[in-house]
Amino acid sequence: MKIEAIAEQYKIELESVYGGEEASALFGLAVEYVLGLSPVKLKISKNHSATFVEVQKLLSILNDLKIGKPIQHILGVAHFYGAVYEVNENVLIPRPETEELVDWIINDHAPVRMQNLKVLDIGTGSGCIPVSLKTYLPDFDVKALDISPEALTVAKRNAELIGAGVEFIEGNILTYESEMKFDIIVSNPPYIRELEKAKMHHHVLAHEPHLALFVTDEHPLVFYQAIAEFALKNLNPTGHLYFEINEYLGEEMIKMLAGKGFKNIELKQDMQGKDRMIKVTISDE
Ligand code: GLN
Repeated sequence: MKIEAIAEQYKIELESVYGGEEASALFGLAVEYVLGLSPVKLKISKNHSATFVEVQKLLSILNDLKIGKPIQHILGVAHFYGAVYEVNENVLIPRPETEELVDWIINDHAPVRMQNLKVLDIGTGSGCIPVSLKTYLPDFDVKALDISPEALTVAKRNAELIGAGVEFIEGNILTYESEMKFDIIVSNPPYIRELEKAKMHHHVLAHEPHLALFVTDEHPLVFYQAIAEFALKNLNPTGHLYFEINEYLGEEMIKMLAGKGFKNIELKQDMQGKDRMIKVTISDE
């Protein structure tokens, strides 16, 4: 069977769900997954005909896409900072904004070649943050916490597959206590308010874990406050705390952190120009 015929039919159907550009990108990914042909190669070999099994596989992926299942869940993988992660419905699909946060930390620390720094990622989900940090800063001692045992199963498998020696801990940051001091504490905690739900893509709402996404309108900074308190006790004097944040809560975050006595507060925008990351220290230097 010719792929072109399938393409014609499904592109129209996917376009009505995703819009033109995303629809053809998704179609390309599905074809590449099933046939091992990149969209460019597919164009060149116009008459590529697929076997019955390949066509069935492709149709099943396209039908899942039509009902709004994220491509990462259909294929079971997501790309993050140069590596491939296994994902499922128990973890947030790693986002490009979080790659920018990881990049900030790596750029701050790789050139100075500090060794044996201790890192803690809070609310690790798929494990994308600690696994990337351990990959690029292999001398660091990297730990990661999550409340969800199901998420930790995914994170541990990712660390193993990618070959990053990360220690995972099951725990709730609202009550978590540790004897250890850290040089880097990082977190991308849940930060979407109920009032922002309406603006969200219904696919995200239907397929990604609400535990990883949402906070109440009354206490949107609940996790940030707990993590900040934890950092006051557990960050080394020369250490840094990094957060990914809600783009609408930059000012509130600065106020909250300044109120707790944090220093050197740096707010950073993501590639879309939205307030997205914050870095602070506990001492003046
Ligand atoms: N740390 C993970 C990520 O950045 C999970 C974040 C979350 O579930 N809120 O993707």
